[in-house]
This record gives sequence, structure tokens and C-alpha cells, in this order.
Amino acid sequence: PKYKHVEDILRIMRNIEQVRNIGIIAHVDHGKTTTSDALLAHAGILSPKLAGEARALDYLDVEQQRGITVKAANVSLYHEYKGKPYVINLIDTPGHVDFSGKVTRSLRVLDGAILVVDAVEGVMTQTETVLRQALEEYVRPLLFINKVDRLIKELKLSPQEVQQRIVQIIKEVNERILTFAPDKEFAKKWLLDPAKGHVALGSAKDKWGITIPMAEEKGIKFSYFVEAYAKGDKAAIEELFKKAPLHETLLDMVVRWVPNPREAQKYRVPRLWKGDINSELGKAMVNADPDGPLVVFINDMRLDPHTKRLVATGRVWAGTATAGKEVWLVNAQKPNKILQVSIYMGPDREIVDYVTAGNIVAMLGLDDARAGETVVDIKYKDQAAPFEQLHYVSEPVVTVAIEPKNPRDLPKLIEALRTLSIEDPNLKVTINQETGEYLLSGMGMLHIEIALTQLKEVYGLEVKVSPPVITYRETVRSPGEKVEGKSPNKHNKLYITVEPLEKEVIELIQKGEISEDQDPKQRAKILREKAGWDAETARRIWAIDENYNIFIDKTVGVQHLREVKDTILGGWRIAMKEGPLAKEPVRGVKVILWDAVIHEDPAHRGPAQIYPAVRNAVYASMLTDRPTLLEPLQKLDIRVPSEYIGAVMGVINKHRGKILEVNDMGGQARIIAVIPVAESFDLPMELRSVTAGRAFWGTEFYGWAPVPDQLLPELIAKIRQRKGLPPNPPKAEDFLSL
Ligand code: GDP
Repeated sequence: PKYKHVEDILRIMRNIEQVRNIGIIAHVDHGKTTTSDALLAHAGILSPKLAGEARALDYLDVEQQRGITVKAANVSLYHEYKGKPYVINLIDTPGHVDFSGKVTRSLRVLDGAILVVDAVEGVMTQTETVLRQALEEYVRPLLFINKVDRLIKELKLSPQEVQQRIVQIIKEVNERILTFAPDKEFAKKWLLDPAKGHVALGSAKDKWGITIPMAEEKGIKFSYFVEAYAKGDKAAIEELFKKAPLHETLLDMVVRWVPNPREAQKYRVPRLWKGDINSELGKAMVNADPDGPLVVFINDMRLDPHTKRLVATGRVWAGTATAGKEVWLVNAQKPNKILQVSIYMGPDREIVDYVTAGNIVAMLGLDDARAGETVVDIKYKDQAAPFEQLHYVSEPVVTVAIEPKNPRDLPKLIEALRTLSIEDPNLKVTINQETGEYLLSGMGMLHIEIALTQLKEVYGLEVKVSPPVITYRETVRSPGEKVEGKSPNKHNKLYITVEPLEKEVIELIQKGEISEDQDPKQRAKILREKAGWDAETARRIWAIDENYNIFIDKTVGVQHLREVKDTILGGWRIAMKEGPLAKEPVRGVKVILWDAVIHEDPAHRGPAQIYPAVRNAVYASMLTDRPTLLEPLQKLDIRVPSEYIGAVMGVINKHRGKILEVNDMGGQARIIAVIPVAESFDLPMELRSVTAGRAFWGTEFYGWAPVPDQLLPELIAKIRQRKGLPPNPPKAEDFLSL
């Protein structure tokens, strides 16, 4: 590793052409960690703090190095190309599919990605997923074909066959680039051309790699490394590392082919940022102007383990980050103040005076930010807009209760859970008020298991875990009757219907195109044009909640209604939190208030009167609406040898699954299926057993679907019993007879 002064690094960072922001993406096991380690071990920048330990870092054992790659949000590398110095920010992109939200957030701060593909396995499910995600974020992909030693040692391929295999993999990746690039212009421009040096091949384990131009320049032939491995010639392999060290090859490739931040922002800002690119803020972002207003996108929030303070890491898109600057958090809608600014020196942070546009910054003081936040100079609050709302449709659907094995660890557990949920916003931590249990919710059992592993390995906590509980949603399938909801004192009456919310509207909310705190006129226009709502209904939205429920006021001239608006909405939010069937959250309904009688004396129309009136009307109408439960679904993407297609389909069908696609690619097959999360817990075991362990798969949250009618009564009874409720759900009359 090279020792550099902070001032040197800052100077390079100011010259934006000398900066690159990249990530490494790969299917699990294809060699992402080994490749990152090779880059780190030989091309790190050391902060003065670490310089004294330089020798130690040089020989860090693998475990320690892994610690660094996993723990740091960003690692800045120093690299010289044709005599010119560069700073290359290597941003950690979590590989796990269950973390898709996190992947998108980290991709947003990159301009290029090295896709690592195992030469023997070729393009796999996650290769495809991560490549698609990168392209959707306008991140330019480059390719590293890893583990070529396996082609020779395990498959005993000849130099010619090795070459054919490489060509085949490049072809497969290029086909995906053509399919997934959202813009044909980019698809063509970003096709991988090995002759130009867009592709490296080698072995991360043996730390060497070459591109065609480099091999020609250095006179390295295919037959050279093929023979070296065929003969097990250690000296010849060591020679490869000396002639074509992997870190140099990959970093040269990055400098040469990944656009610098200014080039990249020209096309990325108009496509990824939601604001007006002709505003002062927009122009500064498109030009990555260091003298413009500050804009930072936060991709990572974590607690500094030593100081216990929150560190926000993100990319500066415009302006210059300095301590003392007042900023506006666009999503949180709050002001914050930057208290400290630092850069990454290797994996370590070093406090600096400023960080300019195009670079990665770590900041203290932004305690109200979460990963995914857009931070803007407070003076430009009016022009502020988030980066395209991060479209995670993923919702936490599986919950476990956890308690420490040793009761004295409880404070430590609470602290650890708080940290985990800050670092991964897709994990939710709640307390069961009645039992005092700590509940951890995630997107699937895989997701929860990763959190549990962290509790154990990072925090040294032994915990007891309850069996997983699945979260359902309640909804209605047809418009219900108009019903009267009375307050307990009978002085207030609300006339309400509940209807299913159209799918188009749910999608508009998911995409962030319509939201509660949006200009009502603009919102009405979108609802008219894109969802076919009539003008009157579209204009009269009072509220939209996080579960895609809308409250609409269609009353005319009701006295005192304004005064109780907030109380009515308070009652509505409570009713939406716990539906009538099983006290599960309500999802996707339109609650319409048609008429009301409100008592003139405020003493008779407080929450104790209004809340029950709203709840009674909403529940009664829902119960006339063919109410049902929605269950979470999971998408499975399975690869198996073709002879197991039938066996895999059998398992899927047995678990109420639906096959979406079977693609037999001669020998290898890909099966895409959807299955209820409730049916997924034994799946890994069953798939392994029917395929003799030859199946690989990834999972993703897919959405919600009504529970089949024949399963509904039993499921409702089961959930109600778990919650200590009588097994039979109430009837509409129960809420009308007051
Ligand atoms: P990740 O899951 O993508 O981070 O993959 P890792 O870097 O952990 O690598 C997975 C496995 O592949 C490990 O056992 C590595 O030692 C092994 N591996 C990585 N690179 C090579 C290589 O070039 N050749 C061979 N034969 N194995 C490798």
C-alpha cells in the first residue's frame, strides 16, 4: 500500500477527471470478496493513523481483510495510470438479493461496475439481477471473468476451448446488456468489446488478470497460463501475478472505461433525479459544479463503533461539503447541520475541511437522515427534489420475537437492534406493547437470518428466537355499502363507504408520483390522467398512508367538519393499522366520507367520540365488501440441470406456487416461479433433496395476493388466536348496533 498525504488526495479529488466511483457486483461465490481483497491489499491508500501499521496491513490475514471489505461503506484507492494519479472509490454493494433496496442505493452513487463472473459457472441468476440493476441505474458495466484456473484444473480444457468458453461468457453478458439497458443508445455504447479492453480474465485467488490489449502489449499468450495451470507450475503462476497483477489490470480498465463523475452526471442526473434540471440546482448537478449549491445523496448510514455517532456516507453531486453547513433533508423534510466532513483513506476516515462534487464524503451531524436520503443546501430548499424515489416495493413481511439468552444483555440487544435498523432501513424493529417482546421484521427468512448472524458475530449476542410469523394485510374486493358510524354519545354521525383502491393508483403511490404532501392540484391532474378518476374525487383527497390507503372527503356543507378533520383522520389511521378481520394492517382501500353530522360543542366531539365513529363506519363497510386477507408472495429464480425441471416444478406446485417461466438452455434450466412466503420455509430443504443439491436460487419480494377462499377462515382463526382474540371475526352488524 502507498502512503499518501490527505492534501495529495484532496488535490486529486478536486480534479474531477481523476476520480472514479465504482463497485464490484457478482453472483454469490463468483469471487467478489477475493477480487475486492486483491484491490485493497495492493492499491490501498493509507491514512497517517494506519501508516505505522503498514506492514501489518500488507499481510493481514484473509479474515481481517474480509472484515474491512464488509465493514467499510467505501474504500478509496490510489492508482496511477500512464503516470497520472487517480482516486478510485470502491463502494460496497451488498450482493444479497433480499437487500435489493440497499443494492439500488449503493448503485446510485457509482458510475461503473466490475461484474465478476465465474468462468466455469458462467452467467447465473444473480449475475443477471445485479447486471440488470446496474444498467437500470445507468452504471456502466465492465467484466472480469474469474477462476479461469478452474477451466484448466477442473475441466481440463485446451487453450482453444478456454478461449471458446471466454467468448461464450462475453456473448451471454452482452445479450443481457442489450436486453436490460433502459436506453438502446447505452446498450450499444456499453457492449463489451474484449479487443478494446472492456473484459479482463484471470484468477482473483492467484491475484492476476489480463485484458487483450494488455496481453498483446506484454506478450502473454493464452497457452502460457493454460500450460502453467495444466502443469501446476507454481513459479509460472507467480510470474503471471508479477507481469499482470489483478489490481493493476482492473484499475487500469476502470480509469480507461468508467466515465469520470462529470461525464457520468451529464446523462445520469436527468434520468435519475426528479427535480428541474434547468433550475440552478439542476444545472450544478448536471455539471458536477464544485462551486454550485450542495447536493449529496446518502447511500449508507451507520454507527461509528468507537464514537457511537451516526456516519452518513454519500456522493456529492454538486457543490462542496463543509462542516457547519445547514442542509435540508428532502425525504425527512427536516433541517440538519453538517458537523464534520471526512474522506476515506483506504477503509479509514480522515477529517478534512471540504469535499468537492463527484466524490464520496462521510459526514457527522445528519442524524435525521437514513440511507436513500437526498441532502441539499438549505438555501435551495425550494428547488430541492429527491433522487427518483427509491422504488423499493419490498415490505417487511416476516417477523420474529427475540430476547437475549442472558437477560442482562437486554440493553446491548436494544442498542444493536437500533443500529441494525438504521443501517438497513428494510429491517424493522418494534416492541410488542403487551408482552414487551422485541420484534424484528424483514423481507424474508433469509433476510432475518442475516440480521441474526450479525447479532451473533458483530455484537456477540446469543439470542432466543421465536418461530417466524408472517404479516398479512386486510383489504376488500368490491365496493361496500354506505353505512352510518355513530359516536358513543350518538351526537356525531359519519356516512362512509370503503372501496378497493385501483391497482394503477397503488402503483402511482409506489413510484412516488402521488403522495400525501404533494400539491393537490398536480395530484388531481395525475389521478385524472393516469387513473381515470373524476375531477371531483381527485381534488378531495384528505390523506394517503404508507399502506396505500386513501381518505376522500365528498361531503357538501357539513358544519364543523373542518374542526374535526384531524380527529377523523386520527381515527382513520387507527382503523387502517388494524383491520376488522384479524387486526392486520389494511392495504389498498379508498375510504370515502359522504356526509356527516358533527356536534357543535367541542366537548362532545373529541377523539373519544370521533375515533369510534370512524372505526365503526369503516369496519362495518369493509365487512360488507367481501373482505379478505392478502398474503405476501416471493419470487423464486431457480437454476437446475435440465433433468430436474419436473422435480422442481413438483415442489413448487405442492406449495401453491405458480410457474412463470421455464427456460431450458440445453443442460441448464432456469425456472421462475412465485410462491406464498407462508409456504417457503421448508423450500430450501425440499429443493435440495429433490435435485440432489444441484439447484441454486435467489428470492425477491413479489407482492401481495388474496389468500384462497378455502384457506381463509382457518387462517383468520389462527391469527386471531395468536393475538388472544376470539376465533370468529366480527360481522358488520357488530359495528352498527351501537
Ligand atoms: P463472493 O461470494 O463473490 O464474495 O466470492 P468469494 O470471493 O468469497 O469466493 C468464493 C470462493 O471462490 C472462495 O472459496 C474463493 O477462494 C474461491 N475463488 C475466488 N477466486 C478464485 C479463483 O480465481 N480460482 C479459484 N479456483 N477459486 C477462487
